[in-house]
Amino acid sequence: MSQTRYFSTRGGSETLSFDEAVLMGLAPNGGLYIPTEIPSLPANWETEWANLSFPELSLAVLSLFVPTDSIPTADLKDIIDRSYATFRSEEVTPLRQTAANEYVLELWHGPTWAFKDVALQFVGNVFAYLLERANKGKSEEEHEHLTVLGATSGDTGSAAIYGLRSKPSITIFILYPDGRVSPIQEAQMATVPDANVYCVSVEDSDFDTCQAIVKNCFGDREFNDAHRLGAVNSINWARILAQIVYYFQAYFLLPKEARKDINFVVPTGNFGDILAGWFAKRLGLPVQRLTVATNENDILARFFATGRYERDPTTDGGVKATYSPAMDILLSSNFERLLWYLAHDAQDAATAALPEQQRRAAAQATLNGWMDDLKKNGKADMGTAVRDIASKEFGAERVSDQETLDEIKKYYSAPAPYGPYVVDPHTAVGLATQERVAKANPSATYVTLSTAHPAKFSEAVELALTKEAFPAFNFAKDVLPEQLAQLEGMKRRVYKVKGEEGVRALVEAVKRGEKPTPSA
Ligand SMILES: *Cc1c(COP(=O)(O)O)cnc(C)c1O
Repeated sequence: MSQTRYFSTRGGSETLSFDEAVLMGLAPNGGLYIPTEIPSLPANWETEWANLSFPELSLAVLSLFVPTDSIPTADLKDIIDRSYATFRSEEVTPLRQTAANEYVLELWHGPTWAFKDVALQFVGNVFAYLLERANKGKSEEEHEHLTVLGATSGDTGSAAIYGLRSKPSITIFILYPDGRVSPIQEAQMATVPDANVYCVSVEDSDFDTCQAIVKNCFGDREFNDAHRLGAVNSINWARILAQIVYYFQAYFLLPKEARKDINFVVPTGNFGDILAGWFAKRLGLPVQRLTVATNENDILARFFATGRYERDPTTDGGVKATYSPAMDILLSSNFERLLWYLAHDAQDAATAALPEQQRRAAAQATLNGWMDDLKKNGKADMGTAVRDIASKEFGAERVSDQETLDEIKKYYSAPAPYGPYVVDPHTAVGLATQERVAKANPSATYVTLSTAHPAKFSEAVELALTKEAFPAFNFAKDVLPEQLAQLEGMKRRVYKVKGEEGVRALVEAVKRGEKPTPSA
């Protein structure tokens, strides 16, 4: 039985149970929760797990990390079954072959057509389960209620809304900059009819402003306590955990003869997706290498080149807007988790000989030093020794906007049986990376993670597959799924507000039981 507990990357010897860590999200000292130990796979996992369905595989993997006194097995199974019943594919994350030894793992068969559903369908059900359990036998006044508050530039918002819609004791407010999310993304959020969902369009703002409003609300003790704010961003451990499963699923979907020298290539922003792959590898999944694919916001690619983690000195501190916007980031929040393990594994012989408790504390201290440097100076130098440890398991590449479009063209033009295949720009960043890596190591097996359906990012797809160059291509007919096309005509509910005051006023009005009037 799993005994795993969770501690903060930034220090403190205190450990939390799985359910406490999930509800807490971020540790009070600013750190992220990681498990006290990485469990081992059952000795016969390869035969025992070979024919499991995705939900069954999920239960097998998650049970290694979720003690039964946090969530009893029967309940965990029920949560998992409900989470993946919403997917359109029997396999949940099916594998598509794109060349002799190349595959794409399609992670976008969930309700919002992007990979965040794999984690957020699960997290929504876990939140609802934990609240229901806490509220059992309590009177209406004593009920715990969670207010989820988040900002989105696109993908996270809709996936969070679909994960939490109609959940009792949870209200969700998603903030986005008025007029600045793509029409399809706004439609996905604003057409959800459930009464516990509020799409909040913040006038005269950009993503950073929305993010800052959320941060201020979380940082305001009184407001936070009064509303019991909850976060669903990718620092939540449960999101990482749910994503470990599809690396195993990919392994079992590969033909037996291809299950060697497996390289995963992962379009990366906040480092949550690829970190899950690293946990799969540490658990014992035979993975040769994990490669980070970044767009022009390339802080991670620069780290693997230099051993320094620093904000891009050429951009004046802002992000570059690229064709793969879900990866437009300045800092990768989940990279901190890997950094803790690197600090731990890079310890000198004297420290490495100490009991695990003390090694853990030493790694926390090292990480704190790096995080302080990053905060103060916008950069931290981990050194090439640390970088070299990371490079044993990870590679990284940076892909330009032009290469992204070229890749979309290439996969569309691929001859049968592999093509035509229309990929979204995030996946294209992954595929361009995969091609580079495969040049140096051509006999390996490559699995590139596909993080969104192409209809969600039509701009890049239509720029790549122009009428002139590809007269046979028709976006509406070839790419746009019926369910997304239908959103256009559906009723929308958006709450337009001004600034932080407007957001707080809305949250408070809802809490008082008022029914604010939507603006659209
Ligand atoms: C969020 C997202 C990513 C980046 O994933 P991380 O876990 O943040 O690295 C990549 N592609 C798409 C489409 C996304 O929505």
